[in-house]
Amino acid sequence: MSGVRLDDLPIRDDLRGRTPYGAPQIDVPVRLNTNENPYPPSPGLVADLAEAVRRDASELNRYPDRDAVALREDLAAYLGHGLTSRQVWAANGSNEVLQQILQAFGGPGRSAMGFEPSYSMHPIITTGSATRWIPGAREDDFGLDPEKAVAAIEEHRPDIVFLTSPNNPTGTALPMEAIQRVVAAAPGMVVVDEAYFEFARTGTPSSLTLLPGNPRLIVTRTMSKAFAMAGTRLGYLATDPAVIDALLLVRLPYHLSTLTQAAARVALAHTGELLGTVDRLRAERDACVAWLRGQGLEVADSDANFVLFGRFADRRAVWEGLLERGVLIREVGPPEWLRVSVGTAEEMAAFREAMSAVLSVARPASAPAGRDDLEEVL
Ligand SMILES: *Cc1c(COP(=O)(O)O)cnc(C)c1O
Repeated sequence: MSGVRLDDLPIRDDLRGRTPYGAPQIDVPVRLNTNENPYPPSPGLVADLAEAVRRDASELNRYPDRDAVALREDLAAYLGHGLTSRQVWAANGSNEVLQQILQAFGGPGRSAMGFEPSYSMHPIITTGSATRWIPGAREDDFGLDPEKAVAAIEEHRPDIVFLTSPNNPTGTALPMEAIQRVVAAAPGMVVVDEAYFEFARTGTPSSLTLLPGNPRLIVTRTMSKAFAMAGTRLGYLATDPAVIDALLLVRLPYHLSTLTQAAARVALAHTGELLGTVDRLRAERDACVAWLRGQGLEVADSDANFVLFGRFADRRAVWEGLLERGVLIREVGPPEWLRVSVGTAEEMAAFREAMSAVLSVARPASAPAGRDDLEEVL
């Protein structure tokens, strides 16, 4: 090793002192920290994937389809709403989709705004593209006050507005009316990040319904969560074809490998099976919310595959207590809260057992189960 430290390098001034995205990847029996779908691909899906890879392997001397047309057709068909491949774009995870949006519509001298607490990658991708980040605020119940959101947009006039619905890490889905108000007020692009849409309660409308007549609206989705394909790295968006013309200017040529395109198409051919796990996860989520509330804890309503709960004066102690018992959750969001991803029935039982043990250490059996005394002890 040269002994050179990051600070010694001629790195961009605006990157100095930053910390990279870092959900800890710790090898423990129960991993409930990155909102993955806990159900692995079925043997039938694995077999179809292996066959698709075998078929395409003989042509790996060639570059992939640069425009991923067949995959975009499949994604449009999955999304419905009358969308065509011309309105759908895909990249390596929705994080890359977001980065391409920032490259095309952000940059030096430009700004992007989001309403926090929300997804930590929005400011990271924004500032990584030398775009100024403007933190807006959500309400105490983690919803959005449309009046205040519109006022903040009119004050700052950001080039890009992020809305996350259902939101990460709070689980909150936004009413369509709030999204419409933001779209109408925003002077630039509006990105609605719907990474968790498939987990929302039945009847929750998608922002895809707002696309007609709103050419500056982008709705992003991912196969990392509901589709149980986090390892594939496939994210996508729906928008006006002109927006995709803008993204073509900044994307790297051949950004989506032949094997990624093939894997995503096989997964889409198994949509029914993959989304079959979503109902089970929603039921586990609702049970988890009820159980945590039964422990006297505060719990945010969730339309996603995770639950935000608190409040703890020392959340680190609770996080560590769970980790000691083999359960990894996420220390994220407002300072007194923790987030648990929804796993299998067995994993959630392990979480409840570990959580009970942690709470009983912190809260003597004689003390009443109330939030106030919990906050004191933990
Ligand atoms: C997990 C997540 C993503 C997905 O990222 P990928 O790059 O597609 O894995 C996007 N947005 C939010 C809000 C997320 O929580």
